[in-house]
Amino acid sequence: MLTLDGSQGEGGGQILRTSLALSMCLGKAFQIYNIRATRQKPGLQPQHLAAVKAATSIAHAEVKGAELGSQTLRFVPQTVEGGEYRFAIGTAGSTTLLFQTLLPALMRARHASRVILEGGTHNPMAPPFEFLNHAFLPLINHMGPTVKARLVRPGYVPAGGGELDITIQPLSHLRPLTILQRGKLKETRAEVLLSHLPAHIAQRELAVIAESLHLPDSCLHTRFDNLAIGPGNCVSVIITAETITEVFTALGKRGLPAEQVASLVVHEASDYLASDVPVGHYLADQLLLPLALAGSGRFVTGTPSLHTTTNMAVIQQFTEKPFILEQLTSSSWSITLT
Ligand code: AMP
Repeated sequence: MLTLDGSQGEGGGQILRTSLALSMCLGKAFQIYNIRATRQKPGLQPQHLAAVKAATSIAHAEVKGAELGSQTLRFVPQTVEGGEYRFAIGTAGSTTLLFQTLLPALMRARHASRVILEGGTHNPMAPPFEFLNHAFLPLINHMGPTVKARLVRPGYVPAGGGELDITIQPLSHLRPLTILQRGKLKETRAEVLLSHLPAHIAQRELAVIAESLHLPDSCLHTRFDNLAIGPGNCVSVIITAETITEVFTALGKRGLPAEQVASLVVHEASDYLASDVPVGHYLADQLLLPLALAGSGRFVTGTPSLHTTTNMAVIQQFTEKPFILEQLTSSSWSITLT
């Protein structure tokens, strides 16, 4: 049985999520120790436990160690079944990360799926819904499956209560993904999502973005969504180029002025625009798993993050096929799988 060290590299939840996803896809059992061992709250937290339980359910897995705080887990998957599923994290834990754990297996299953996930949809240190919808899923769909996600209700920390409704038309063989250049820039737009908060927050955020990124009014959008059970605010800058759409986001936080929230996004978007790479640093670590499932592919990105190098190492432990990381210029790298 494959044995993994959960504290290797970046040492976070991604090691567990990638392991669950690949274990289901490849039908390979694994055990993992030191899960999130060096984190402030080590071991399985509600969000990770929800991922283990959901994976157990869709792959009829045999599992040991699926308890809150557990730093070890043993997971033996059987056949993955598409179908109708509803999983609730029970806290504001990230539904998008839970979704990314299940998607690889469900997008290659024999039958279609509809998955409803409850929890947070706009969490710190996780892909917000807008990133999932505009950046990640179009690339997945480009590889062959048809995956559609709908934000039924936003969920923010700490109240949670958000909901995603996802449909997946699977495909057994994914097309390889090749993204070497960004191509011509087509559009940059900004979207502010606001729940149970005053409208001037969105106006102040958009004013900063408009001025810094030189965007006309027609590219500035506000969406009020008061279906959320608690207050929240997410600012997205969506950059569409010929070959790829990238999304940079920041979440409003009590005590953090709206102008500063917007500045965080402007900073990330400006860095990306000034660079010449197509794949930004969040997408880079998230595209490795689809690339591995396709069996080959190549993309160009900036200096690899610790999430990226760790995810490469974890995936290699399952596939025994190395990614080739090659520095192209002082600030661009290619990641290839042949
Ligand atoms: P972990 O820290 O191991 O739980 O993994 C966090 C995951 O969330 C990684 O795949 C990151 O790329 C992703 N992530 C974190 N922040 C963002 C963001 N602002 N936009 C998109 N993805 C993000």
